[in-house]
Amino acid sequence: MTQLTFVKTGSDWLHALQSSDSAWLVTDANLHTTQVNEGFTRMLGYSLEDMLGQPPLQKLLQIPGMPLPPHIQEALHSHGVFSGELQLYARDGSAIWVSATINAFNYQTGESGETFSEVLVLTDIGYTKRFEALQRQMLEDVVTEKPLDALLTNMCQALERLVPHVYVSVMHVDEQGIMNPLAAPSIPSHVLDLMRCVRIGADVGACGSAAFLGCEVIAENISEHPNWRSAASVFTQAGLHACWVSPIKNRDNRVVGTLAFYFDSPRSPNALHRQLVMACLHLCSIAIERDASKHRIQQLAYYDTLTHLPNRTMFNDGAAHALHAARGQTSLLFFLDLDRFKLWNDSLGHAAGDALLREIAERLRQCTRPDDVVGRLSSDEFAVLMPRCSPEQIPAFAQRMLEAISEPFAIHGVMTTPNACIGVCTSPEDGTDIETLLRHADQAMYAAKKQGCQRWERYQPEMGQLSLERAAMERALRAALTEGTLQLHYQPQVFSQGQPQQDGLYGVEALARWHHSQWGWVAPPRFIAVAEDSGLIHDLTRWLIDAVCGQLALWRAQGLQVPHVAVNLSTKNFHDPSFALQVQATLHKHGLVVQDLMLEITESVMLDSSPATLDNLSALHASGMRLSMDDFGTGYSSLSYLHRLPISELKLDKSFVHDVTTSAAAAALTRSVLNIANSLGMAVVAEGVETQAQADWLSEHGCQVLQGYLFAKPMSPDDLKAWTLP
Ligand code: C2E
Ligand code: MG
Ligand code: MG
Repeated sequence: MTQLTFVKTGSDWLHALQSSDSAWLVTDANLHTTQVNEGFTRMLGYSLEDMLGQPPLQKLLQIPGMPLPPHIQEALHSHGVFSGELQLYARDGSAIWVSATINAFNYQTGESGETFSEVLVLTDIGYTKRFEALQRQMLEDVVTEKPLDALLTNMCQALERLVPHVYVSVMHVDEQGIMNPLAAPSIPSHVLDLMRCVRIGADVGACGSAAFLGCEVIAENISEHPNWRSAASVFTQAGLHACWVSPIKNRDNRVVGTLAFYFDSPRSPNALHRQLVMACLHLCSIAIERDASKHRIQQLAYYDTLTHLPNRTMFNDGAAHALHAARGQTSLLFFLDLDRFKLWNDSLGHAAGDALLREIAERLRQCTRPDDVVGRLSSDEFAVLMPRCSPEQIPAFAQRMLEAISEPFAIHGVMTTPNACIGVCTSPEDGTDIETLLRHADQAMYAAKKQGCQRWERYQPEMGQLSLERAAMERALRAALTEGTLQLHYQPQVFSQGQPQQDGLYGVEALARWHHSQWGWVAPPRFIAVAEDSGLIHDLTRWLIDAVCGQLALWRAQGLQVPHVAVNLSTKNFHDPSFALQVQATLHKHGLVVQDLMLEITESVMLDSSPATLDNLSALHASGMRLSMDDFGTGYSSLSYLHRLPISELKLDKSFVHDVTTSAAAAALTRSVLNIANSLGMAVVAEGVETQAQADWLSEHGCQVLQGYLFAKPMSPDDLKAWTLP
């Protein structure tokens, strides 16, 4: 047994123990409680009066009159001390995990000779440990995009394990103030039914009123509380007697949900309940907000924000389904392109152009059947797939659409008559997959345009000849690559205001430029598409990376500070099994390292599961090469791959940047993208920044890097040099 000689008197050291934060208990020689400190009462709810004269462990372990567990007895007898984790029961019956140290003392008080006693020191660890595990699990669930209901159900169950006699529920509150259960694993379903589709209000239960008032609500006894009225008995019969609800608020302080503890007897929450709920509220808010942004992003990714029609991705999906369902019968695909839209847009302004596009979308909806699939493919291109029709119906349908479109329309007090051209093809005759059908309908539309405006044409196989133009472009591009007449321009990417390195250049993006003797400057999307279709993209990218590395090495030799160059890659590049090796070899050849390049890919690379793509991605990642997600927000925008794949940068597409200061949807999406990128440790580069207002908004919202005409257009290497040097 431990031999101790206390210099101080007994009352002195007991006084010192009183003020300790841990829970302490002291016994007399009969091992009956003589002292407890305030920490003990806080932790277990027992006062000194409750414990006085009682054997403490038997009471706290709820084994009255029984011997102590053998491992405790053994430790005390052999060593005079027990140290270990115990599950004790507090005064309210709840279980608490503690780290306990029990010292059996044999000491002298100075005046009265030798005395025995036990001193118990208890530290609450169970909650800490298990609560930490709960928090970790929730964060992991958020990052791995576990469905919101599953994530919250796990949380409720974990909380219920931590605090017995409590039933936990999480409700969702939508922007219209309608409440619905998100997770409530232990609340009987007939009780939950009362909580569905409930409008929040000052006197609506505890959840409804907490959501409405934006503050916690405690109903210590549901059967007596005015908010439950006739529903009280349903709750009490299900064993739910008291309720404590805290509102879950989002970043903008709007209530997006509630977290409720129901108790199986009338009572109010204790300090521990509060501690748990305080920490969970924040995680619930993150989880609910993330889920909302995911939905918003999906909505934005699949629907055109201007007309609310399905976008190209969604149209292709819907049309493919409709074609499949109508197999064996004829379907018609109409491809519409407005005449002179650019002219209207430029002369009357973008707002007028937008209004016209919305109107056209509405007119198309009106003149199609519910089963038809209507979509907006790009700025002034629309498509309509009509399943289960006959080719004889083509003239009537095409005419109806043309007439609907050409109804006069007033923009800003100016009356205009919109016109369009339509190309039509049929399935299965002209193709069975949506890509082929769109291509053929597009060719027919071009044929119609050649005839003038407000026309329609049906696809003829000879129209494929129209793609002769494309073949000519392919030949010319091949020649340009061999002759080395393609060029590269570079656009600076600068740190936004408030970033520590704000004076420095973050990097530059290399953009291919092609000048043809007859056609002049050919737009990159056009010749890149030809390169992709013809397979020339492999040569083009090989040339691109070599030219970029050569340029960077030259700049470095000239003392120019260019941190890295971003290069654009096509999905097809990843189909070349030697691609990753090639990039590394080129870097090596120019004496550069992986940090000197940033490879810009698009979301389609992420969706491509071909073995060559996966091998290339992992080889690039293994070499330390950084990948950037270009045009983020315009494709599938599935957030789930972001944390799985080695992406170190997101490039926010210029369409969002363009609208960020004028459209609430674009601003919300941008904020979500910035939040997600931040939490995944990725840099965000905003593309197409044209105005100071956009730059300010982006800087204020934490976007680190900006790129756009506001700072500089893409320029020749010499111009870039002049731009960089003061
Ligand atoms: P991207 O990679 O998203 O490149 C950004 C485009 O936005 C460039 O168009 C750039 O000139 C333009 N831009 C930059 N700042 C602004 C601005 O403030 N406002 C507006 N409205 N536009 C801005 P560009 O050069 O015509 O290239 C178009 C696309 O062609 C690129 O989009 C990229 O996807 C592709 N591309 C260009 N060069 C290459 C290349 O070498 N290889 C591959 N595979 N694709 C390339
Ligand atoms: Mg790019
Ligand atoms: Mg881009």
